[in-house]
Amino acid sequence: MQPVDNFAPRVLAWFDKYGRKNLPWQENKTPYRVWISEIMLQQTRVTTVIPYYNKFMQSFPIVDVLAKANQNSVLAHWSGLGYYARARYMHKAARILVDEFESEFPNTVAGLCELPGIGRSTASAILSISRGIKTAILDGNVKRVLGRFHAVSSCPGEKKTEMAMWDLAERYMPSERCSDYTQAIMDLGATLCTRFKPKCLLCPLEEDCLARKTEDPMRFPIRKLKKVAKPEKSLQCLVLSNEQQVLMEKRPQTGIWGGLWSLPEFSSEEDIVMHTEQRFQTQVTNITPLNSFRHTFSHYHLDIEPSYIRIDEISVMIEEKYQWFSWKDAIALGLPTPIRSLLNEVRNLIGT
Ligand code: SF4
Repeated sequence: MQPVDNFAPRVLAWFDKYGRKNLPWQENKTPYRVWISEIMLQQTRVTTVIPYYNKFMQSFPIVDVLAKANQNSVLAHWSGLGYYARARYMHKAARILVDEFESEFPNTVAGLCELPGIGRSTASAILSISRGIKTAILDGNVKRVLGRFHAVSSCPGEKKTEMAMWDLAERYMPSERCSDYTQAIMDLGATLCTRFKPKCLLCPLEEDCLARKTEDPMRFPIRKLKKVAKPEKSLQCLVLSNEQQVLMEKRPQTGIWGGLWSLPEFSSEEDIVMHTEQRFQTQVTNITPLNSFRHTFSHYHLDIEPSYIRIDEISVMIEEKYQWFSWKDAIALGLPTPIRSLLNEVRNLIGT
């Protein structure tokens, strides 16, 4: 794959005319603000991220405030964005930055990559966008643009191909306007060289784009075909509550919904009957099954089968992971999206 002349100037000229320049993280481009945006934007669309980003910045405007925040509050701001490990790592990294780096971001890719949750491309984006340092990124958008422009016929996930693409990305990185170029190439991938139906006629790279010459640019970069059906899993969860309070369970830090609050889980309905009285020291007289529903993760389907038990007396919990919350406070916790919807449904049902 040989680099082509004038790649960066064409991308920059297009960006000057058509690129997005009013996104919230494009104002006051500090390393902190760019970092938060880059983490939020991983696997997530710009339009989804914007309200989350604005709210997050209102609550945690600088790294010191984020470092001091408790994890529940950080996860509550992330609730609905998914991939919660991102938020946990980010919070951990903020504490390291404050404790060990006097709240200053390292000035090298290697230094930033030492922090939890920051890889080479994210580190480069932080440094090039916020400090204008010449260091290339290779996120999904850039891989798609380069993969098509050069009609890469091997899978970008393969080590050799990835190294060749890093090499190209670095060679195309200009020495000037590094911040603009990084935003421009990401933007071009996100708005023109889209996964489906790329807008080649509007693209500044059209003339030399090898994928475009094939009339079927979407074929590139070549992807490994792995069409396997997603596995299905199920879980039983319990809404144990009265009109004032509801019992919540803090999930372990690892695994799905790590660190979030959720509802107590059981392996079967019999398990609920057998263990509720003992585990929650409460008398069970009547269990109401609620509508079950499916939540799909990137790697499996989860069928959630909820039940509702109304209690009169609030008991003292022995295990720390369980806690009673008022309905209002429960809804404001860092919750998985399907659990928040379920709680809202039950609230309507019982009229709290
Ligand atoms: S010409 Fe089309 S396929 Fe090639 S880089 Fe531009 S948008 Fe992508």
